Amino acid sequence: NVVVVGSINMDIINRVERHPEPGETIHCLDTSYSPGGKGANQAVSSSLAGSSVTMIGAVGNDAFGEVLIKALHNYGVNSSAISIEEGTSGLAFITVDEAGENTIVLSHGANGKVHSDQLSINMLKGAYAVLLQNEIPASVNEAVMRMCREEGVLVYYNPAPAHQLNEYLYDLIDTIILNETEAALISGLQVTDVASAELSAAHFINKGIKNVIITLGSKGALFKSKDSREFVPAFSVKAVDTTAAGDTFIGAFAASQASGGSVKESLVFAAAASAITVTRVGAQQSIPRKEEIEQLLNS
Ligand code: ADP
Repeated sequence: NVVVVGSINMDIINRVERHPEPGETIHCLDTSYSPGGKGANQAVSSSLAGSSVTMIGAVGNDAFGEVLIKALHNYGVNSSAISIEEGTSGLAFITVDEAGENTIVLSHGANGKVHSDQLSINMLKGAYAVLLQNEIPASVNEAVMRMCREEGVLVYYNPAPAHQLNEYLYDLIDTIILNETEAALISGLQVTDVASAELSAAHFINKGIKNVIITLGSKGALFKSKDSREFVPAFSVKAVDTTAAGDTFIGAFAASQASGGSVKESLVFAAAASAITVTRVGAQQSIPRKEEIEQLLNS
């Protein structure tokens, strides 16, 4: 059983020939909606990968709120503890030009109102791990980390979007999972390849975090703990849209670990899951089911 405490967003994606200048009005080529948000994406990934998942978060009492909760429910995520708050849901306004260059304006909406009281001790009983990211208030993440420590539940932390961490938090994190940019910003060390990722991972281990996973896009993923190390290459696929690659990796890794997989098995499973995600457009709608992941692993 996996619990995710995090963000729930509606991504609103406009494709344009070129980005508008300030003050300019342009027509877009088309618009699409895609349920997203790092927390919700990770919950969907864990659920589709075979875990039983409870999502803690908040949506607004606008039309998107209902759609977002329904999407999670349809992916098998327990959404009964998601709160509905006065105001707008979390929204990501994404503009993509023909070269694939994007600009994103995030409106955190109800995500700013998530409260640690939504997570009951009962939900933590029997939970394997809680997954956290940086799209809800930092004070909520910290309170949840402390509850997990009390109850003996593992904390998986994905510090994205990245900001500096308070050093006293390191001791409360079992597994930190980050991409190259996030690892570089937080460790203060450049991360561009496996060798530099090793140094950045060592930084986090020295600070007291037990396990570190640095994902390196199409270059694969590195796992490091005090006395072990694993590297898994990425699967070779034709990438179309890398949205939710990291979220898929994290959700699938957690699901595999929760069901008793070894670190190596879980890393390979997560690499296969996220490789499928990058071959499809969108966030939650691009995340694969367990059967598809196993098919790729057996091919
Ligand atoms: P994020 O989406 O957080 O930036 P990454 O880009 O590091 O994270 O991707 C996470 C994981 O997704 C990688 O470790 C890899 O397994 C998989 N992945 C990402 N891009 C590709 C790609 N082009 N081809 C195959 N797998 C990929």
